[in-house]
Amino acid sequence: MKCALCRHGSTLPGKTTVTLEREGTIVVIRDCPADVCQQCGEYYLNEITTEKIFAVAQDAANRHAEVEMVRYATLLSQPPPSTVSNDKSWINAHGQARL
Ligand SMILES: [Zn+2]
Repeated sequence: MKCALCRHGSTLPGKTTVTLEREGTIVVIRDCPADVCQQCGEYYLNEITTEKIFAVAQDAANRHAEVEMVRYATLLSQPPPSTVSNDKSWINAHGQARL
């Protein structure tokens, strides 16, 4: 698909690192499956991936972790955290509330 950010590049399936930050908790999720813009590097996550990322980020915040770094693949092999959040107030590394 066409990139919504730069409007010139097109996206290809790939992997990206997602960084979420809120209230002193930083969560870095590596190797997330995403559509990545070949021109500007912007990434687009699907709904399932986003849900899993939010769940692990919320879990880290609940534990007041300062920095949490995980591989996306390890999320798939774990049972989902008990606290499932629909909180969309997390911002990504670009400072956008798009996630
Ligand atoms: Zn782009």
